[in-house]
Amino acid sequence: MAKGYMGKVLFVDLGKGEFREELIPDKVYEQYLSGQGLGAYLLYNRIPAGADPLGPDNILGFVAGLLTGTGSLFTGRWSVVGKSPLTGGWGDANCGGQFAPAIKRCGYDGIFFTGISPKPVYLLIDNDKLELKDAADLWGKDAVETEELLMHTYGDDARVATIGQSGENLSLISGVCNDRGRIAARSGLGAVMGSKKLKALVLKGYKRIAPNNRDEMKRLSQKANRWVKAGIPLWPGVVNAYMGWALGIAPVGMAMDGFLYKMLLKQWGTGSMNEMSVGMGDSPIKNWKGSSADWGFSKSKSVNSDIFTRCETVKYHCYSCPLGCGGICSLTGKYSETHKPEYETVLALGGLLMNEDVDSIFYLNELLNRAGMDTISAGGTVAYAIECYEQGILTRDDTDGIELTWGNADAIIALIHKMIKREGIGDILADGSKAAARKIGKGSECFAIQAGGQEPAMHDGRNDPGFALHYSIEPTPGRHTIGAGLYYEMYKLWKKVKGLPSVKPFYGKNGKYVADEEKILSAAACSKFTNIINGSGLCIFGCFIGVNRIPVFEWLNAATGWSKTPDDYMEIGERMQTIKQAFNVKHGIEPKSFRLSDRALGIPPQLEGMNKGRTVAIDKLSHDYWAYFGWDPETGKPKPETLSRLGIAN
Ligand code: SF4
Repeated sequence: MAKGYMGKVLFVDLGKGEFREELIPDKVYEQYLSGQGLGAYLLYNRIPAGADPLGPDNILGFVAGLLTGTGSLFTGRWSVVGKSPLTGGWGDANCGGQFAPAIKRCGYDGIFFTGISPKPVYLLIDNDKLELKDAADLWGKDAVETEELLMHTYGDDARVATIGQSGENLSLISGVCNDRGRIAARSGLGAVMGSKKLKALVLKGYKRIAPNNRDEMKRLSQKANRWVKAGIPLWPGVVNAYMGWALGIAPVGMAMDGFLYKMLLKQWGTGSMNEMSVGMGDSPIKNWKGSSADWGFSKSKSVNSDIFTRCETVKYHCYSCPLGCGGICSLTGKYSETHKPEYETVLALGGLLMNEDVDSIFYLNELLNRAGMDTISAGGTVAYAIECYEQGILTRDDTDGIELTWGNADAIIALIHKMIKREGIGDILADGSKAAARKIGKGSECFAIQAGGQEPAMHDGRNDPGFALHYSIEPTPGRHTIGAGLYYEMYKLWKKVKGLPSVKPFYGKNGKYVADEEKILSAAACSKFTNIINGSGLCIFGCFIGVNRIPVFEWLNAATGWSKTPDDYMEIGERMQTIKQAFNVKHGIEPKSFRLSDRALGIPPQLEGMNKGRTVAIDKLSHDYWAYFGWDPETGKPKPETLSRLGIAN
């Protein structure tokens, strides 16, 4: 009976050059869905404790979601999973484009790699033919060149995921690219791919992906699509900046409705938030020590939303996405085009570095995407280096003559080139700010703003404490795609899941900063729901429209033939969250060590700007979050009875 998933995975032993298919019992899908859930289940049970992330025992998986290809919308996200060399614990990253359905069309829910190849190779799956091919000619090429060469060889219907030079050089802030330089950037899994000498995957498959009830899938998707299509053209981009400032100073908070955010995404993409976030205090400035008082109205206008849409030549839609928040921008100079820079990239290379030169942001966006280096971590690490330079910890001798000052676009470009090549100071910085601070020392550790070794994204927890909590307590720390007060408002989970607090359209802002039970319930719900999203292969932007409009739970039932309630699915999300945490504990991680750096928590509080005087009550929030999940509230380690209740091997 068709259930939406393919029911099997492929294991590739790169050391021996052998392939092995493995059937996955239905029960595993019922407990973990597919995608990241299936990956977490397999990797928790199979990667030996203490395995070197860059050694042969690490397993690197490429997984597609349960809903991908079933007729539901927004299912173009695939994930790469493995033990992270950056954090030492569970690692995942996901990306859109056209690669996700290609995994399932080859007949698999996931493709997993073990061992290390003696020489650079790429995997070719051409229908039922499986081959490891020599990648000597591709090694050293960037992600876009590699993809173009492979598509030239195998045709336009081939789907490619590849590393750039950053992954080959084992930079711990490197990711995996597809669709011309889009990147599954976080967790440093590009380095794992590089360590395995695996340059790329080339997938050509035509297998049918069959949902259980195709008519119901169609009905649900048509209904959801009406919400996606509805809307009107919005105001000019400059209004976004004023909105940000107004939201920042208002004593009353306004709950964000995902329908409005969808309209912003449709018009500008994630860049709709560029100036708005600076205004409201959401965007960290000057390595998290500054504020909109340093990089405010006059400087942030260099990244106004309209600047990015003006050079957009074509809108970009991921697989099965009717929204299309992406775009291709034309450029002058070395590169003729680039993906429209995302909000995270713009602010990590803009306000975080006090950089007003938007041309340098476009250039670096393409450079980093091609090299396969995470733009968030690259920006965070450069910010660390600039502050070291400002404090005299790094000198011109250390930087090979680069005048590493705030907002110096030429210096930023020169330094990032060095990081990609691992040249000079770039060799030290290529593994992220925490690793660099360990080597540089001299008290520079406090300038490395990170959680568990990963640089947090461009959303300030002093503005929305939910971000700070998730940066600190998630099994993959520093991530902005899992939860926040803002996300809870948009998901509207209380409309489907029992016992969750609803959000009022307007609320007293001070309440946002109180560490009470509602914050824990909403944070836990975000963690669980994001696991469902990642097990399904969904895009969070689609899900932001709200579960009352985007039928995530109903799609899952129609695709599989199950008749689970939203609460049943939330328990699956809880199991996925817990097995990832158990993965970390198995590999020796003390969950407390993932706590976000003090500065980003408001310790000490800022003296000016929108977040003036605010400190996140991180210890209480973490304690209560862990207790809620049935994990030890002092250590964050899942209790044996919790593992047993969820059926996770202890
Ligand atoms: S909303 Fe944007 S990122 Fe999400 S699937 Fe659509 S195009 Fe891709």
